[in-house]
Amino acid sequence: MCQQTQVVTVIPYWERWITRFPTVASLAQAPEQEVLQYWAGLGYYQRARNLHRAAMWFAKVGFPTSYAEWLQVPGVGDYTAGAIASICFNQPTPAVDGNVRRVYARLNAQASASGARTWAAGVMDAQCPGTWNQALMELGARICKPRNPDCKNCPVEKFCSGKSSPEKYPTPTPQRASILIERYVALCRREGKWAMRQAQPGEWGEGLWEFPSKESPWDGEVVGVVRHTITHHRITLKVQMADVDTRVWQAALDIPHLPMGSAHRRIAQNFLGG
Ligand code: SF4
Repeated sequence: MCQQTQVVTVIPYWERWITRFPTVASLAQAPEQEVLQYWAGLGYYQRARNLHRAAMWFAKVGFPTSYAEWLQVPGVGDYTAGAIASICFNQPTPAVDGNVRRVYARLNAQASASGARTWAAGVMDAQCPGTWNQALMELGARICKPRNPDCKNCPVEKFCSGKSSPEKYPTPTPQRASILIERYVALCRREGKWAMRQAQPGEWGEGLWEFPSKESPWDGEVVGVVRHTITHHRITLKVQMADVDTRVWQAALDIPHLPMGSAHRRIAQNFLGG
């Protein structure tokens, strides 16, 4: 999917979201389930949770104005804190993303990018830190690209130690071995409602709705298979029509509005029927 199509796809989500949560206070006051509900269909639910936790933090503590304070905000790490502090508050803090790490490694012919933050702090333009950080990130994104870097048009080409073989730097990290997971998902319907459960704290997809599943087969016909990948986990969900013992049921009409992970949403779309 091209980037423009992706943006068009999320516009209705954005409009619904901003109508319901027009201010930080309105987001902070909402229950997490409602926040997840408005995010439903976008995936990456941890981002919604972090946004919600950050809004609650702002409502309680106020908006941070320094790098150190931004680091206290739930979900904000070193890169985001550095980017906000430098771009919004003109503070000389590095904002080191994957692009900056690559520029550092190539410019200095380093196999490892672990020294990127120290280097970025050392070369910082303290007068214009926000512009400087954005220029470094853009250099990595547009010129010093992961593949086929455009060294001929690179503004720092004459200082670059890695330009003779840029793709050697940094040394690619070996891919993690895939972990295969197989689970059996039960679809059980009674009086127009489907058996469902909500993932508990500490479980994958905490707070999201899903159909009951387990590692061994249920007693029932397999009606299909859904495959899904999360990081290096390759998950196969075998969908069965089966009887389950539960007290939690959801009406078919309500299921499309529940916050669900993408695999269980696909199961709902493909197997629940009318
Ligand atoms: S000269 Fe090439 S390798 Fe070096 S920083 Fe520029 S684009 Fe990257």
